[in-house]
Amino acid sequence: MKLRHRAAAAVLLAAITAASAQVPAPTTPEALIIAAKTAAGLNFPGTFLRICVNPQNAEGTGAGVVGRGAGGPPPGPPARATWYAQPYKVFDNLYFIGTKVHSAWALTTSDGIIIIDSLYAYAIEAEMVEGLTKLGLNPRDVKYMIISHAHGDHDQGAALFQSRYGTKIVMGAADWDATVARPATAAGGVPKRDISVGPEGTKITLGDTTVNVIATPGHTPGTLSYTFPVKDGGRTLTVAYSGGTAFNFPRSARAFEIYRDSQTKMGAAAKAAGATILMTNHQEFDAAWDKARIAQVPRAPGEPHVYEYGADAVQRYFQLMHHCAEAQRIISK
Ligand SMILES: [Zn+2]
Repeated sequence: MKLRHRAAAAVLLAAITAASAQVPAPTTPEALIIAAKTAAGLNFPGTFLRICVNPQNAEGTGAGVVGRGAGGPPPGPPARATWYAQPYKVFDNLYFIGTKVHSAWALTTSDGIIIIDSLYAYAIEAEMVEGLTKLGLNPRDVKYMIISHAHGDHDQGAALFQSRYGTKIVMGAADWDATVARPATAAGGVPKRDISVGPEGTKITLGDTTVNVIATPGHTPGTLSYTFPVKDGGRTLTVAYSGGTAFNFPRSARAFEIYRDSQTKMGAAAKAAGATILMTNHQEFDAAWDKARIAQVPRAPGEPHVYEYGADAVQRYFQLMHHCAEAQRIISK
């Protein structure tokens, strides 16, 4: 009897010690959303609002996601003034060639250019081909284009770069399947299956630069995310690039579980790489167009780059993504 009491007391003490040593992980949708809001802070309000406050679910119809590339026909070209953005040099080796809505980037290396994400077809010539030229870069030097996922707002430039410049196109295996099944009349054309990335990920090396490609299924089955180096003066910093965000995929507990686990995986990859910069591919998630313009303004001595959030904030981004997905998983069947 006495022994059992002592054992029970020890268990209780251990439980109290454990509870006071760490904040318990949130387990209800309400607690997860509160934790996600804390994780978002003022760094990532757009991402929090999009996937936690008003999580989108197209149910495969494309309803409510016109202009975001998921399902349904591509939108007609909107007025140029609503999307055209000047190209900008943002880091010593990274150039913004996106629109006011979507991001595309040119990563320069010692042996050519890697493009990260393209845009809707209507913006390819103005932003990517002419944009590179305006920046003093040659579209013919684009050796790789890495597509985060096969939605029109990020992939409609692939066929043009592949056929005109011989660019190798990198995409997740499952997203290649969806891409090559498109009709020949699809906006931007249909690229030929090229470098296909499976669940194990891959590394794309060009000259002195390597992009670590991490498979992060969820937003689409073949979504890819990355870590890669950027140079800022004498310093080399690491970017964690999150390749897919919105919940505009068919809703199921299993789908959110896959999405959630990809965030854990990408957070760990970002941590291992020492990432202090977080990028995504829509302005509402990382304000890339704002940051690209702010990066043109002189800095005070020692002032960090506008994109340099710090390692903790990069981790908070993936916690935010994890918590929002987990909240949806709990309430989904
Ligand atoms: Zn998408």
